[in-house]
Amino acid sequence: MHPVVSIVGRPNVGKSTIFNRLIGSRKAIVDDEYGVTRDRHYGESFWNGRTFNVIDTGGYQPDETDIMTAGIREQVHIAIDESDVILFVVDCEAGMTSLDKSVARMLREDQETPVLLVPNKADNDERTLNAAEFYELGFEEMHPISAINGRGTGDLLDRLVTLL
Ligand code: GDP
Ligand code: MG
Repeated sequence: MHPVVSIVGRPNVGKSTIFNRLIGSRKAIVDDEYGVTRDRHYGESFWNGRTFNVIDTGGYQPDETDIMTAGIREQVHIAIDESDVILFVVDCEAGMTSLDKSVARMLREDQETPVLLVPNKADNDERTLNAAEFYELGFEEMHPISAINGRGTGDLLDRLVTLL
């Protein structure tokens, strides 16, 4: 079994875009045991001689009670349980939201799995500077990236594979 990295965060921060960048042309495996809206996407990634599996998760919404968001939440917890490292994705174009704070609280409950905070959409210098506001979430390590243009992704991966 390869080590597992899961990508977690509220909806629309760019989790699936990051997932696609990490797995590249390799194909995602869809575990449809969980149903169409809650399925889990697995893919294999490779960096600096390390192979690892990546899990893309649905957008985490802690307080919604409808069956679909409850299903996504359950699926996120399953992904976190099997992860060696969590990429906690936030959006430095939108800035901090209360949902980010709720996800942070949920992740801090699990003290064992290392979390790398990843402010995405840091497409340029200005956005990268804005990412500093996310230090408030209380995670030691932050790696701003742009999943679209690739900025910062090499540094993130260099660090990530040292934790596997
Ligand atoms: P998810 O809901 O977290 O999986 O987010 P998606 O991957 O579906 O992306 C949500 C939106 O953000 C899409 O319109 C993406 O094109 C956009 N997006 C993702 N990554 C970036 C990025 O690095 N920069 C910018 N500017 N937009 C991004
Ligand atoms: Mg997605």
